[in-house]
Amino acid sequence: MFWIARTLREVEHVSAHCRFLGIEVAVVKGRAELCPALSEPMTSEEASAYCSAVRLRCQYYTNMLSGVEPSCPYYMQFNQTKNAKVIAATYNMLLKAGRLVPLPPVRSEDILVVDEAHNIIATVEEHSFTKASLERALQELSIIKGPPALRDFLHRLLANMASFKPSTRAAILAESLIYHGKQLRRLLAEKGLRPRSSLHSVGKALRAACRSPFRIEDDRFTVVEVKELELPRAPTVFLSGTIGRHEAELLGAEYLDFTVFASYEAETYVTEDLTSAYEQRTPEMFKRYAELLRRIKSPAIAFAASYKVLQGIVEADKELEQQAFIERPDMKSAEAEELAEAWKALARRGEPALYIGVCGGRGSEGVDFNEAQAILILGAPFPEPDDPALQALYQYYADKFASDAEVREPERLAELHAVVLPAARKVAQAVGRAFREPGKRALVILADQRFKRLKRLLPKWIVRELRVVNSDQVPPRLGTQREGMMSLGVIE
Ligand code: SF4
Repeated sequence: MFWIARTLREVEHVSAHCRFLGIEVAVVKGRAELCPALSEPMTSEEASAYCSAVRLRCQYYTNMLSGVEPSCPYYMQFNQTKNAKVIAATYNMLLKAGRLVPLPPVRSEDILVVDEAHNIIATVEEHSFTKASLERALQELSIIKGPPALRDFLHRLLANMASFKPSTRAAILAESLIYHGKQLRRLLAEKGLRPRSSLHSVGKALRAACRSPFRIEDDRFTVVEVKELELPRAPTVFLSGTIGRHEAELLGAEYLDFTVFASYEAETYVTEDLTSAYEQRTPEMFKRYAELLRRIKSPAIAFAASYKVLQGIVEADKELEQQAFIERPDMKSAEAEELAEAWKALARRGEPALYIGVCGGRGSEGVDFNEAQAILILGAPFPEPDDPALQALYQYYADKFASDAEVREPERLAELHAVVLPAARKVAQAVGRAFREPGKRALVILADQRFKRLKRLLPKWIVRELRVVNSDQVPPRLGTQREGMMSLGVIE
C-alpha cells in the first residue's frame, strides 16, 4: 500500500499508527530532509537539482555503491521499502516516483491512499518576478555567456514589462531562459552552493504566462497557474474530512460520507445579521463582528474570511489588537507556532483567550486548537473579487466543463468548483481545528447569513444541531441545551 500525504508531519502520523498496529512501514523522505551534503537548507526541488549535479562525485553516493559508511541516507532508505507493507511518503515523492528508480512504482495490484485529498484538487501555483529579478537574470546571463537574443529580450522586459505578449516566440525564449538557468544552477551546485537562479525563475514565470492569465502591478509580474496532480493508475482511496460528493465526482471516485458518524458535538449557530459580502463591508458591520467576539466568554478561536475582513474588525475595535492573539499575513512558521502556543497556554488555564486568524491561513489548516471551546467563522471565505487565483481557477473549470459534452451548465459548475466549494472546504478545515478528539464539544458560530445556504456543503456533524439567530443571541459559552434555548428566548 502506498500512503501519500501533503506534509512530512502527516506522513509521520501514518507511520506511527502503522507501527502501533504492528504493520511494517517504510517512510520515504526527500533529499531536502536527508541529504547530508547540502551546505544550507534547500527546497526539495533545489536539493534534487543539487544531487543530480554532484551525485557522481559525491562521497556518500560512492560509499553506498561500495557498501561502506557513511553512505547516502536518501538512497539507502529505499532498501527498507522492499519488505514494507505500507510505503508512506509526501505527494511530491510519489509523483516523482516514475523517474525515481529505487522507489518501486505503484502497480495495479497495489492500493494507493491519498490522505487529505482536498489538497490535490486543482491547486493554484503562483510565479512572480520583479525588476530586481530581471537585473539579476541579466547578470547571470553574462556569467554563463548566454545568447544575445536572450539579453535583448530581458532588456526589453526590464524597460517595459507590459511589452510581454504570449506567443510561440515568447514560449521558446522562456524555455531558453529555463535551460540557461539550469546551466547556472549546475555550476552553483558543483561549487557546493545553493542552486538558485533568477534566469530559471523568470523563465518559469514567462512560460506559465504563455498559457495562463498574468498581471503586472507595482513592477511585479505575477502569473497564477492551475495544476492538477497526475496520480499513478491503481485502486485509489481518497481520504478527506472536508470534501463532498461534487469533488468525488471530479476525482472519478465513489463517495462514502462517514461524517455522519463523527462523535463530535458541535452546538452550531448561524448569525443572520452578519455578512462579509463585499458590498456590505461597512464600519458598522465590522463593529458588529467585533461585538460578537466580545460576547464569547470561553477560550475561542476565530477565523476571518480574509485578511481584509480581519483588518476591518480589528480597526473597528482597536483594543482587540492588545487583547487577542492575531495572525499576520507575513508571519514566519516559527512566529505563527509561538503565537498559537501562547494562546494555548492561556486557554489551558480556562481563560477566555481569543485567537484570530484567517480561513485558509496558517492557524486554520495546520494547528490543533483542541483547547478551544468556541470556534467562530467571521464571514464566508469566498475569494476576494480581485484575487488572481479566483480568475485562474474559474477559467480552468469553465474550460474543463465547456469541453465536456455531458455538462449542461458549465458556468454554474465552474462557479461551484472555483468559488463555492473551496470556501466550504476552508470552513470545514477551520472548524475542525477545535475538534481533535472523539466526543469533543464546542460552540460553532458561522457568522455570515450566507451559511444558511452553504450549510448543505459542510460536514454533517457541524450542522447536525444548527440554529439561526441574531449575533446578540449567540450564547457566550458552550451551554446545556436548556441554556441555549433560554438564550434564544424559546423558554424562560
Ligand atoms: S547522492 Fe550525495 S548529493 Fe545525492 S542525496 Fe545522496 S548524499 Fe546527497
